[in-house]
Amino acid sequence: MPDVINPATEDVIATVPSTSLEETDDAIARAHAAWPAWRSVAPGDRANLLRRFSDVVRDHVEELAQLEVANAGHTIGNARWEANNVANVLAYYAGAPERLFGKQIPVPGGVDMTFQEPIGVVGIIVPWNFPMPIAGWGFAPALAAGCTVVLKPAEVTPLTAIRLRELALEAGIPEGVFTVLPGKGSVVGQRFVDHPLVRKVVFTGSTEVGQGIMAGAAKQVKRVTLELGGKSANIVFADSDLEKAAATAPYGVFDNAGQDCCARSRILVERSVFDRFMGMFETAVKGVRVEDPRLETSEMGPLITRSHHETVASFVPDESQVAFRGECPTGPGFWYPPTVLAPVAPTDRTFQEEIFGPVVVVTPFDDEADAIRLANDSDYGLSGSIWTRDIGRALRVARGVETGALSVNSHSSVRYWTPFGGFKKSGLGRELGPDAPDAFTETKNVFISTED
Ligand code: NAD
Repeated sequence: MPDVINPATEDVIATVPSTSLEETDDAIARAHAAWPAWRSVAPGDRANLLRRFSDVVRDHVEELAQLEVANAGHTIGNARWEANNVANVLAYYAGAPERLFGKQIPVPGGVDMTFQEPIGVVGIIVPWNFPMPIAGWGFAPALAAGCTVVLKPAEVTPLTAIRLRELALEAGIPEGVFTVLPGKGSVVGQRFVDHPLVRKVVFTGSTEVGQGIMAGAAKQVKRVTLELGGKSANIVFADSDLEKAAATAPYGVFDNAGQDCCARSRILVERSVFDRFMGMFETAVKGVRVEDPRLETSEMGPLITRSHHETVASFVPDESQVAFRGECPTGPGFWYPPTVLAPVAPTDRTFQEEIFGPVVVVTPFDDEADAIRLANDSDYGLSGSIWTRDIGRALRVARGVETGALSVNSHSSVRYWTPFGGFKKSGLGRELGPDAPDAFTETKNVFISTED
C-alpha cells in the first residue's frame, strides 16, 4: 500500500491501497450500469443534486483545505481557494442540465433538431499539482451533461479526491455515478484509455503521458480532452506600470511553488527597462514568504516529492546564471527557494523546458515584434501575461501570442466562467466556461418529415 507523505515534514500521513486492474474494470462496469438511470434523471432534479453536492463541499471547505495542506504542501490560503473552487464549479454547472439546448434548424420538407446526448462513462485522470480543482473541472460538467465518472487522482495526492467522493454520496449522488479509484497511471489510468466502455478520457498532466493517451485513445477513436504542460511568458513593456509588474511577477510564477501549468516561467522584459525591472523584481522575490504552509502568512510551500525536488534542482547546476534567490526553510521537507536566472538565451534548456518548480528565467526583448517572437518560441501555449498601458498594443500582442488564456495587467488564467486550455503541445480541447458540458456530449441530428 503506497504511503502518502506530507511534503513539508516528510511524515507518512496515510496509506492508500492502489486499485487493481480487476477492481478498475468492476468500477467501470458499475459506472456503465449507473449511466441509463443518471442520464434519465429529470434535468431539474439533476441540477438539484449538483447544487446539494456543491453545498456539502462548501460545508467541508476547511476540512478539505487542511487535508490538501497536509497531502500536497499547499498554503492554507490556496487550499481554501481550491476547495471553494470545487463548490463554485459544481454550483456553476448545476445550471447546465436545464440548459443543455439543442438547435432547431430551418430545412425544407420538415423539421430538424439537434440533441446534446451524454457520451457515457468518462474517465478523468488528475495530476498532483492541483488535485481538487482539476478533478472538479472534469467531473462537474461531465455529471451535469448526464455522464457517469470514474476518476483517478495522482498516486501521491489521493486524499481530497477520496473525500470528495464520500461527500458526493452524502449529497445524494447515486452509487456508481461518481467513483474515485486511487492507483497507478499505468494500471488504472491506462485502463480508462483501453476499456471500450469508457467513452471519453479527460487527462491533465505532462505532455509526454498525454501523447501516449492520445495515441492509445486513437485505437477506439475515443474522445479526449488533454490539459498538458506549459512554459508561459510574462511580457513586460516599458510603458507598463513597472512597479506593479515587478511586484506581482513572483506570484505569477512561484504560486504553488511553481508547480502550476500556467506559471509565467519566462519573463520577457523590454530592454530599455530591464535593469530597473530587475531591481524591483529582486526586492519582490526576496519578500516571498516561503514557510510552513499551515501558517496564514505562508505564500509558498515545499515541492511535492523528493524526486521532483531533484528534477527541479537539476535545472540549476552550480554554473547557472542565478541573478538572485529568495529564502526557504532548511530541515525536513522538500523545500526549494524562489530562483531567478537572468539573462537567459532562448536556446537555453531553462527557457524551453517546463521546470515545474520555483525557477524563472528573465530575457530582454527589443520591440513588440521581438516580444511576440520570443513568447512563441516554445512548444507550449497555455497561458501568459502582458503588461502595458497601451490598449492597442495589449490587443495586438494578445492576438499574436499563440496561447490559450492570456491576462493583461494581471496574472489570472483560470476562472471557471471562461474557457481554459492550450495551444500546441499544451493540450487539446477546452475546459470550464459556459460550453464545458458540451464536451461531454455528442450532437445528434434528427429530421422529421412533414410531408403527407
Ligand atoms: P503525469 O503526466 O506524470 O501524471 C498525470 C496523471 O496521469 C497521474 O494521475 C498519473 O498517475 C497518470 N498517468 C501516468 N501514466 C499514465 C498512463 N500511462 N496512462 C494513464 N494515466 C497515466 O503529470 P504530473 O507530474 O502528475 O503533473 C504535472 C504535469 O501536469 C505538468 O506537465 C503540468 O504542466 C501538467 N498540468 C497541466 C495542466 C493544464 O491544465 N494544462 C494543469 C495541471 C498540470
